[in-house]
Amino acid sequence: MSTQAPTRPDTIAIPAAMLPSDGRFGSGPSKFRPSAAQALADRAVDFLGTSHRKPVVRRVVARLKAGIADLLGAPDGYEVVMGNGGATAFWDAASFGLIEQRSHHLSLGEFSSKFVAVTASAPHLEDPSVRVGDFGTCPPLEAVDGADAYCYPHNETSTGVMLEVGRPDGDDGALVLVDATSAAGGLRFDASRCDAYYFAPQKALSSDGGLWIALMSPAAVERIERLSASGRWTPAFLDLKLALDNSRKDQTYNTPALATVFLTAQQVDWINGNGGLDWAAGRSDRSADILYGWAEASDIASPFVTDTAIRSRVVGTIDFDDRVSADDISAALRANGIVDTDGYRKLGRNQLRIGMFPAVEPSDVEALTSCIDHIIERLIT
Ligand SMILES: *Cc1c(COP(=O)(O)O)cnc(C)c1O
Repeated sequence: MSTQAPTRPDTIAIPAAMLPSDGRFGSGPSKFRPSAAQALADRAVDFLGTSHRKPVVRRVVARLKAGIADLLGAPDGYEVVMGNGGATAFWDAASFGLIEQRSHHLSLGEFSSKFVAVTASAPHLEDPSVRVGDFGTCPPLEAVDGADAYCYPHNETSTGVMLEVGRPDGDDGALVLVDATSAAGGLRFDASRCDAYYFAPQKALSSDGGLWIALMSPAAVERIERLSASGRWTPAFLDLKLALDNSRKDQTYNTPALATVFLTAQQVDWINGNGGLDWAAGRSDRSADILYGWAEASDIASPFVTDTAIRSRVVGTIDFDDRVSADDISAALRANGIVDTDGYRKLGRNQLRIGMFPAVEPSDVEALTSCIDHIIERLIT
């Protein structure tokens, strides 16, 4: 019997004709369009390195705010608010400025559980109410006595589960806070069904990190103003009243990353100029149909999320059976310039995770599936 040495994943060469035009499939930071970076380079001397308190930068901030309101279909009276520190900072800020006493959370993966950790440790809040769902599923959103803020992600990036944005029945004037970091601009929703739709722009919006942006309802603004007037101590950096006041003047409380602001405005304009949210979500839909269709037809791969109603259209999680290691596939892809397809570590599954945000070409997802097939054929002998 001849014993053949196993093929080392990083020695597998994928034919050039089979490769995607762009090899970035990460779930965040995600692929941004080279033309957006080029547009930034074109502003290297009159925008970058200039004061964020002066009209040149404030005009870009104003353009970004208007573009976000347009993209997300902001109802009358809703406002776009911005601050520094990404979605993680927004959780801390919300614990001071949006949650009055007690929050209720849906916890279904890494990111939704991190917000729970924030409110559970905040000394000025009551212990949160938490409904935990197994990885790959989503618990129902139900009204909870005494909850004044309902918190859940639009898309749980770690597991590839998407939720419908809505309010629980009988919520009694509570706010609905939706983490849209891996959803904003890629998934359809009705903004009137939540009060703060917040996100960092380096995932679904294919920009860079460091910023948080929130579309806020009049009820959210009223809550911010009331809690601010109540005398609750709040660190200035996390003070949503300061963020609101500065955003209304097209500024941030402290210095933002100007490149992030510019790249986000660039991406929002690109989507709006092509038809808006429906167009962008349509691109992710095509990518998702390709990826899941391929996995379902495969005898070795399968979609991790079994309920198709909550299977994410922007972050695809694909399980492999034990004939092949997903880590080996990911290593072989990386050796060929296709990066960041690894599953989320803490899930502990034999899995790849694929970012299918609007900036990704659906034809590149098609090419990716061919590349994975090519690798699998060589890994299982
Ligand atoms: C990545 C991510 C975050 C954290 O974003 P940061 O900008 O790193 O703070 C929060 N929520 C979701 C759903 C994410 O995917």
